Amino acid sequence: MKGKIAVMNQPGELTVKEYTLPKAEEGSVLAKILRTNVCGSEVHIWKGTDPSETSGLLGHEMVGEIMDLGTDVYTDNAGTPIKVGDRISALYYLTCGRCYYCTNHQAHLCENAHNFYSKLPDEYPHFHKTFATHYYIHPDQHFYKVPDNIPDSVAASANCAISQVYFGIEKANLKYGNSIVIQGAGGLGLNASALAKEFGAKTIVIDSVQNRLEMAKRFGADYVIDMNEYDTVEKRSALVYELTNGRGADIAMELTGVAPAFNEGLHLIRIGGQYVSIGNLAEGSIPFDPSLPIKKSIQIISLSRYDPQYLNKSLQFLSENIDKYPFEEIVGKPFKFEELETALNKSVSREITRASIIMN
Ligand SMILES: [Zn+2]
Ligand SMILES: [Zn+2]
Repeated sequence: MKGKIAVMNQPGELTVKEYTLPKAEEGSVLAKILRTNVCGSEVHIWKGTDPSETSGLLGHEMVGEIMDLGTDVYTDNAGTPIKVGDRISALYYLTCGRCYYCTNHQAHLCENAHNFYSKLPDEYPHFHKTFATHYYIHPDQHFYKVPDNIPDSVAASANCAISQVYFGIEKANLKYGNSIVIQGAGGLGLNASALAKEFGAKTIVIDSVQNRLEMAKRFGADYVIDMNEYDTVEKRSALVYELTNGRGADIAMELTGVAPAFNEGLHLIRIGGQYVSIGNLAEGSIPFDPSLPIKKSIQIISLSRYDPQYLNKSLQFLSENIDKYPFEEIVGKPFKFEELETALNKSVSREITRASIIMN
């Protein structure tokens, strides 16, 4: 039996190749991909603005159905029994369990995280990324069973946006009654808003796009700040102080991917507060006054990836809150495998916020 893989020849150009499906070896799982979503990082690669990836495989968000299990795989990484046909979500990276970071309680920094990530499809087991009909999950790659009430469109992004912001929120130790400013109401920001609300925080979301702000309200934001109305950092900062007893927010999260937002965040946080920096993955430069975080004793927490168990925590969170927040509306009408290029092009032109693709 064969499966299909989309290969990027150069930014903006895909070819579909076919490969014989591998058998799941010891400790591994072969999944049929039900749904994959287009994330911001793929948009950068497709546009050609990510110099580190100019060809090869694409896609890291997925929900799949188990097709084949290695002989010794009976449960997911939370100990839940699994069988062929179950839906699962896998981390997009490995945690080897043996490197310096894995053995020092920092599995999200695993030195071997991306061992299989930039492999080409000719290399066995071929199915290294998620813009394909199938996906090979390695022995060191955590995966979790997806609760039945989470639709594919929502489950497909669980291994990225929500797990990342959940990790960030807990790293900042958000507590009941705290105030949090969320910069950016895209996929990361909306998930962060719902999480913060469920943690019992006063949630303030900043964005410049009206329909994103409307969505933020439906995702639990207590206050939204429209950057068109409050059109300077000073005005936005004054409003945040007004909403937080004149002190500034306990925590802010940068989820915009826009370099100047980092400076702005520092102005919105109270003395002794915390700043979680996640969005600015793409390289950029800004004038920066390093005395500002020192004068306010702000703790900056910069994060890439998350500890594996956060994927399971996110799936449980989504399952418990699926009727409370409109998670399904973050993604639009799904595309088909044959429409991958269209889905990517429309993501680049921002016609759609988060493209979702049915792979099987
Ligand atoms: Zn992603
Ligand atoms: Zn490791």
